[in-house]
Amino acid sequence: MSRPMFEHAALVGIGLIGSSISHAMRRKGLAGTITGSARTKATVDTALKLGLIERGYASAAEAVKGADLVILSVPVGACRALAAEIAPHLRQGAIVTDVGSVKAAVVRDIAPHVPKGVHFVPGHPIAGTEQSGPEAGFAELFDNRWTILTPEPGTDKAAVEKLKAFWMALGAKVEIMTPEHHDMVLAVTSHLPHLIAYNIVNTAEHLERVTDSEVIKFSAGGFRDFTRIAASDPTMWRDVFLNNRDAVLEMLGRFSEDLTALQRAIRFGDGDTLFRLFTEARRVRRGIIEAGQDTAAPDFGRQHKADGDVPQPSGKSARK
Ligand code: NAP
Repeated sequence: MSRPMFEHAALVGIGLIGSSISHAMRRKGLAGTITGSARTKATVDTALKLGLIERGYASAAEAVKGADLVILSVPVGACRALAAEIAPHLRQGAIVTDVGSVKAAVVRDIAPHVPKGVHFVPGHPIAGTEQSGPEAGFAELFDNRWTILTPEPGTDKAAVEKLKAFWMALGAKVEIMTPEHHDMVLAVTSHLPHLIAYNIVNTAEHLERVTDSEVIKFSAGGFRDFTRIAASDPTMWRDVFLNNRDAVLEMLGRFSEDLTALQRAIRFGDGDTLFRLFTEARRVRRGIIEAGQDTAAPDFGRQHKADGDVPQPSGKSARK
């Protein structure tokens, strides 16, 4: 039998992303052994019960001892303290990575703690669902999705290549860019849509003229799709906005200008402008389907789907 890519992978944080990485590693036999830690004993116990890890620990420092791959899958705001905690226990030559949705702040928080001889290669899989916790993960989460790596220019090339090969073995496609570029791109493709979803759901909730039952009853008119995004983990998203402030504010400014243009067009009955802008937006949807990042199948909410065309295993519950 061929040797696994890593002898010992340590998962610090075993939620949706950590557990999906475990499932996908097991699918391909990428790690000889998998250890893990989480904030609570309940999560470590669940991870052991589900077979996501072979050994579970209360402390991240214990979990990473001897590991040649360490993956931080925790909210962005937790990275700094965890990096400080694990630093003295990292094995020489190990690769340390993360999956945080913001990159410049994570590099700022983790890199100073990484000892010489340990390779830090930040990462972010552009794949997820609105669910959380160790039971939410599944092996197919990263299939055909992009993972972005944002190594600093001086990073060991072999370590970057190895992590790239690892993500490809998990099913992902990999692109490398700077942390700052990542944060700008994700501000518009992910962070702003989540902010808008949170806002529109709360706007509807606060409306006094529309009763709760009407909001729920007629939700298939568009609102329902926003509620799925707005069901995402509040801790994770609080940390995203606190840590990608500048890029999000820049994109929010542009969004507000475009919204004002739509507002004007509606106020002045400018149907041509509305039609032109809606036609342009429709083209973006076609591009996403052509790129294989979603299917064109109609989704009336009757079939439960996770991310894109990946069927979601039954029995999973949102753990909010
Ligand atoms: P999750 O399901 O809520 O899991 C978070 C994990 O981190 C849990 O095991 C939790 O332990 C642990 N944790 C939380 N705070 C901690 C702390 N202060 N110290 C140590 N461990 C802590 O979250 P997730 O969706 O996997 O997200 C993890 C990371 O992936 C985030 O940085 C997020 O930005 C990124 N990401 C998320 C998605 C997505 O769609 N969800 C997609 C791409 C990347 P307990 O269970 O014991 O609390």
